[in-house]
Amino acid sequence: MILERRAVGPFFKNGFVIGCEDTRQGVVIDPGDDVDELLAAVAHHKLTIGSILLTHAHLDHVTGVAQAKHALGAPVWLHKDDNSLYEHVVRFYQGQEPLRFGNYQVRVLHTPGHCPGGVCLAIAKDTTAGKEAKDTKEILFVGDTLFAGSIGRTDLPGGNIDTLLRSIRTVLFAFPDDTIVWSGHGEQTTIGREKRTNPFLIG
Ligand SMILES: [Zn+2]
Ligand SMILES: [Zn+2]
Repeated sequence: MILERRAVGPFFKNGFVIGCEDTRQGVVIDPGDDVDELLAAVAHHKLTIGSILLTHAHLDHVTGVAQAKHALGAPVWLHKDDNSLYEHVVRFYQGQEPLRFGNYQVRVLHTPGHCPGGVCLAIAKDTTAGKEAKDTKEILFVGDTLFAGSIGRTDLPGGNIDTLLRSIRTVLFAFPDDTIVWSGHGEQTTIGREKRTNPFLIG
């Protein structure tokens, strides 16, 4: 898996470029003020981007959407419960069909709480692709649902702490302990580490 992360001020929100090393197809996740850096990473890896995926529609995660869409010509995907800003220009995740790029698939998991339409993206090589077993373990891109040592804020419109904790416990903690987690801000962590050490989630 090709994985590039960029984060720039003032928000230091993580934007990602994920690519299939076999086919050079890819996706961009949460293009914000880092959009120039993300587009440079796309060009560097010679990727063809088929989708722009949003974990949610908060400002810091979407300021680069228009530029990314213009540069890449790819559709923008968002959960329908977060549609207020982008109602007319996005496609909505729906049903259980994973999105695909190259030999990888993206499972979209609805994880409300930080905001109504928050989703987590579980990305791994599609095992039916018949390739080597590498990269068949899902990596999670969780937006602002869960952070290393913290959880998403719930004081913004549509936020709810009980809903957020339920999303984390029932959806994210169902993944194996060694699952890598990339949050919308900060460094990567794992499901097991957060289960054991996250002060909002232990006990
Ligand atoms: Zn947010
Ligand atoms: Zn954020």
